[in-house]
Amino acid sequence: MNNLLDSLNKQQREAVVHTEGPLLVLAGAGSGKTRVLTYRIAYLINEKNVYPSNILAITFTNKAAREMKERVENLLEGSYDMWISTFHSACVRILRMEIEKLQGYKKNFIIFDTDDQAKIIKECLKELNYNEKNFPPKEMISSISKAKDQLMTPGKFMDRYGRDFRLKKVADIYSLYQKKLMENNALDFDDILFKTVELFQNNPDALQRYQQKFKYIMVDEYQDTNYCQYMLINLLAKSHRNLCVVGDDDQSIYSWRGADIGNILNFEKDFPDAKVIKLEQNYRSTQTILDAANSVISKNFGRKSKRLWTDNGEGKAIIYYKAMDERDEADFIIGEIDRLAFQEQISLNSFAILYRTNAQSRALEEMCMARGVPYKIVGGHRFYDRMEVKDIIAYLRVIQDPEGDLSIKRIINVPKRGIGKATIDQLEDYARQNGVSFYEALLFADNIDGISKKARNSIKDFVRLIAELMDIAENESASEVINQVILKSGYLEELEKGDDEAQERARNIKELISAALEYEEKNEDNSLTGFLENMALMSDIDGLKEDREGITMMTIHSAKGLEFPVVFICGLEEGLFPTQRAFFEEHQLEEERRLMYVAVTRAKEKLYLTSAFERTLYGSTSYTMESRFLREIPKDLIMKV
Ligand code: ATP
Ligand code: MG
Repeated sequence: MNNLLDSLNKQQREAVVHTEGPLLVLAGAGSGKTRVLTYRIAYLINEKNVYPSNILAITFTNKAAREMKERVENLLEGSYDMWISTFHSACVRILRMEIEKLQGYKKNFIIFDTDDQAKIIKECLKELNYNEKNFPPKEMISSISKAKDQLMTPGKFMDRYGRDFRLKKVADIYSLYQKKLMENNALDFDDILFKTVELFQNNPDALQRYQQKFKYIMVDEYQDTNYCQYMLINLLAKSHRNLCVVGDDDQSIYSWRGADIGNILNFEKDFPDAKVIKLEQNYRSTQTILDAANSVISKNFGRKSKRLWTDNGEGKAIIYYKAMDERDEADFIIGEIDRLAFQEQISLNSFAILYRTNAQSRALEEMCMARGVPYKIVGGHRFYDRMEVKDIIAYLRVIQDPEGDLSIKRIINVPKRGIGKATIDQLEDYARQNGVSFYEALLFADNIDGISKKARNSIKDFVRLIAELMDIAENESASEVINQVILKSGYLEELEKGDDEAQERARNIKELISAALEYEEKNEDNSLTGFLENMALMSDIDGLKEDREGITMMTIHSAKGLEFPVVFICGLEEGLFPTQRAFFEEHQLEEERRLMYVAVTRAKEKLYLTSAFERTLYGSTSYTMESRFLREIPKDLIMKV
């Protein structure tokens, strides 16, 4: 264990051994903040004899959580029951045990994604007779999300904004939306955190139990926490006060999603006795890369000044290529990677291409395919967003709880079983008039006028199918349930009769079985509930399959916390990066600059910057101007090619 502390510098060691009382580690990129947390957990368990179950560590992604857990277990040479997870995973785990203390919620709740949310919002608009043009569903989802980040219930929202003609209507939508979520036994993403805070605020006993349990709490990337997360941590840490947060105010890049940089900057006000440790040595990058990063970020005003140094040596110059257009840009990048990988025998896993928006990946992907270079893409269209996968998931949700109207309506006629729109309308009317769920209406189909005999029989078959599948789910693992669903529902059979595209969909569905098998292998819990939950919590950023070699492509936002030997930052053009929205608002420009700082500091050895003279994006072509961020890097660090 001594040699464990040996592989840390003096300040890092200080942070690791300061286990009691509040601690803030505020430090720049690559200075070992995440490493400090990892070693701290190992130190607590090994040296301080803390029970692993008394530790709560929060990471930004599930992937980061997995990695941290693995490293701790490697350091300790054993496996332990520690809560190392994202905010969302930790809260779901708590809610599965406690949510029934909140009125109207059930333990087997499901988690809605943005697609489900949009459907519910549309139902609300229809019921309230509001127009989708005046109240765009996307905007409504985002308003509701912001309200929840601020711990604002529909009631509070109405109190605060109800006097405004339009916002009063938004409050109505929010209120009905919340009611519908409950009817579906569903939580949306923000509810997962909000309901946990509510639970603790309304149940002192429950709060006390978790305060007792989590004697040591740690949070990575604290600069990107929102108000709700801040409250949660403060509630939990209140009694023991052994709270260690680490972060970098220069890397706060999620303010558009409600993150509040004030949480980290005011930590010393919240905890006046907090110990503050700064880390200044960067272990990740070359001096050249660091100088570039320092120079860019120094253009921001009102920041806590930090200066990173490294003894990694000067390293290679930063390379800048100005392409003709986005195809030429992609050609240069992929060509360069191809060349380096071959000449210098570097694994493709060492390369990352970072861009400002997902849409930029298309040209790069096409170039990779043309040249036969394997790549992995983070974010974008996820496997779980595919229609056929969502259909099967809807089946699984119905099996878990048939009262969820949204899911059952999705699959009642998929594959086609002769239950048409007219029948569904009748069933919906019946359900509304009698105050029952859609599923219950199905059970009463014989008594509903206007439903044909044929449709009645189909409904009976469908109800029987669901009952049968529910039986199977009681005894079988998730993968077996999925297998039975696709066989017994006739879904697979229908696809296998179809064209190439249908065949592809059939393969995707089988891939879902593999995903379930993989989940069962990694987790003791092989239940359907567990699998569904795991899937819902996978974020875009986690969607990266590690096992295959290839170039990594992702947005800069997704790259936070990661590092790669060679990094390409592309599309360095005014209006793209920084985005146009930043032209008029200083605080937005500063956030873009922090984003540039994050991007540059992902690189360990080599950094490439590219822009295009002319770019076609979202279907329109225009001439561009070089990004101001290029000018903010000292000229002598850059070599133009
Ligand atoms: P970011 O701000 O990007 O999240 P970070 O501050 O969390 O960065 P880490 O990812 O913990 O930094 O560390 C950056 C790299 O430096 C890692 O590869 C880590 O293993 C290495 N590193 C950190 N501290 C040391 C040390 N004392 N000795 C050797 N390597 C170190
Ligand atoms: Mg980190």
